[in-house]
Amino acid sequence: MKPFSTRGSTPPPGFDCTPDQWSDPSWQMRNRIRTVDDLARFVTPTDDEVRAVGALAERFRFVITPYYASLMDADDPSCPMRRQVVPRMAELDDPAGLADPLSEVEHSPVKNVVRVYPDRIAFCVNNECALYCRYCLRKRMVGEPEWAMKKRELGVALEWIRATPEIRDVLLTGGDPLVYGDDRLDWLLGELRSIPHVDIIRLGTRLPVTLPFRVTEALCAMLERHHPIWVNTHFNHPAELTEAAAAACDRLTRAGIPVGNQSVLLRGINDDVTTMKALCEGLVRMRVRPYYCYQAQMLEGTAHFRVPVERGLEIMRALRGRTSGFAIPLYVLDTPYGKVPLGPDGLRQRDGDDVVVEAWDGRLWREPNPVDDGPEGT
Ligand code: SF4
Repeated sequence: MKPFSTRGSTPPPGFDCTPDQWSDPSWQMRNRIRTVDDLARFVTPTDDEVRAVGALAERFRFVITPYYASLMDADDPSCPMRRQVVPRMAELDDPAGLADPLSEVEHSPVKNVVRVYPDRIAFCVNNECALYCRYCLRKRMVGEPEWAMKKRELGVALEWIRATPEIRDVLLTGGDPLVYGDDRLDWLLGELRSIPHVDIIRLGTRLPVTLPFRVTEALCAMLERHHPIWVNTHFNHPAELTEAAAAACDRLTRAGIPVGNQSVLLRGINDDVTTMKALCEGLVRMRVRPYYCYQAQMLEGTAHFRVPVERGLEIMRALRGRTSGFAIPLYVLDTPYGKVPLGPDGLRQRDGDDVVVEAWDGRLWREPNPVDDGPEGT
């Protein structure tokens, strides 16, 4: 079996911390990159990146863990990890982008509970992540104090779930639920487990990718006490599949937690067959099931990441027969009416610059189809 990269397992050469500090998730969170000077310890920032850090300070700040920063190429601004987390001026050039493209606020019966389907909810338990992905669907929420959940607000949400017997499946998301300490998460899971109609609890977390040291044996032992627990994580590029990330996923799977992956199709990052195949095959080597590949949303500040639906369809078609069937994720478009598979079943028609898809309940949704105007460069 091909080994995973050891990059990020220890501090980069010359970095002033001990190996124990480096692998301590609290140290990583305290020492996150927040300024151009911090960033310059890992890469040589371009003029565009420096300007963007200042210009976006009030709109969507940047925060990066030292671990994830150590995966970035110091000299190549088109490095796929760097492009996911370092601001660029292109974020200010997206007139079509929306703050809440899935109308999540409209679908919230109480704060931070999003209900699109009758039996499932996304419960955004906090507003914090280890780092801020530039294409984050919830950038309106991540890092913004007004979306934090006080214990009283968590209580209101739990009461709503308790009073809504149709809810069978709860996805804890955010932000990132694993940014919570073990004790708080244990309390929250215990509260959910005390609700008889809640069968499944899922955690949506990017920490196996961005801060794998957070996935400790103690955390996994605690999660195991609340089974059935499922985890969906979010790798986008094969270079994120490091030894440290593989070890984090291994700890989860050894605790009996099925781990799936939800990637986002991102221009210049994973929108080609070779990269997507390497990502999916690497995930399977880690015993992580490639589950969804999302069409990027019409989200503000992300025009430079979006690719036409046709490109995604081509990639999925090319994977078929060239790799194991279970290594191929389902290509989906998320809409305010729910997720729709993009393929013969969901894609109803192309209509001018839009695609029209049919949601699970028969409603039709019209989505602008991004224009292919060449490769995204530096
Ligand atoms: S980890 Fe997820 S929720 Fe957090 S910024 Fe990235 S995409 Fe958004």
